[in-house]
Amino acid sequence: MTKNKIPAAPSIRRLPSYLHIIRQAQSDGLEYISGTVIANELVLEPIQVRKDLAITGIIGKPKRGYPVGELITAIEHFLGWDSAKNAILIGAGNLGTALTGYQEFKNHGLNFVAAFDNNPQKTGTQIHDVPVYSFADLKPKLKNLNASIAVLTVPSTEAQSITDNLVEAGIKAIWNFTNVKLKVPEDVVVQREDLTSGYAMLCVVMGKAY
Ligand code: NAD
Repeated sequence: MTKNKIPAAPSIRRLPSYLHIIRQAQSDGLEYISGTVIANELVLEPIQVRKDLAITGIIGKPKRGYPVGELITAIEHFLGWDSAKNAILIGAGNLGTALTGYQEFKNHGLNFVAAFDNNPQKTGTQIHDVPVYSFADLKPKLKNLNASIAVLTVPSTEAQSITDNLVEAGIKAIWNFTNVKLKVPEDVVVQREDLTSGYAMLCVVMGKAY
């Protein structure tokens, strides 16, 4: 998929919640699910759901909806969750340890193969069965890891210089959990994650509701 053909981010972000509902429908024994049922579960407009699902290439049948099995396959394929991807973690601290311990990532093809840290007390240990290496060994280790993604969970002050090292070592995709807007070459993809934006939503909605 070329960059200018990537669908809108909100549509992509909604697909995992659809998948959750569709999988539930499958385990309830349903063969078809309608866009309206999904929309009702998530308090969305049915037209929105149908538009979002259309990006996966699947079309619903009038009156019946979408065949559940095919829909799951289409969403997983669109998201790339049906193929394995090796990832490295940079920063084996609180957040990094939690991420490597989250088993659901494996179900989405994400496989942490190594962690890197600059704390000598952490290197040589394991977090959730993932070996922790010295960040100084990044380049030689990377050669054998076949990793396409780096997950960045270091202090913000370190983020840019570490990113420069990752790019130099050949990493093309960075999942950035720091609050730094990283500068990278055009051929490197960065996705920044911020839990505080979800918390901000919660606070504002809570403030309006009570
Ligand atoms: P932490 O201090 O527990 O972990 C940071 C780890 O990075 C440590 O193990 C440390 O040894 C390692 N490190 C420091 N400098 C390094 C370097 N130069 N090279 C390699 N490793 C290095 O911190 P934490 O609580 O896990 O937070 C990590 C980052 O994630 C911070 O930037 C924090 O702001 C961010 N964070 C983001 C979210 C979010 O929603 N995106 C949530 C929590 C934390």
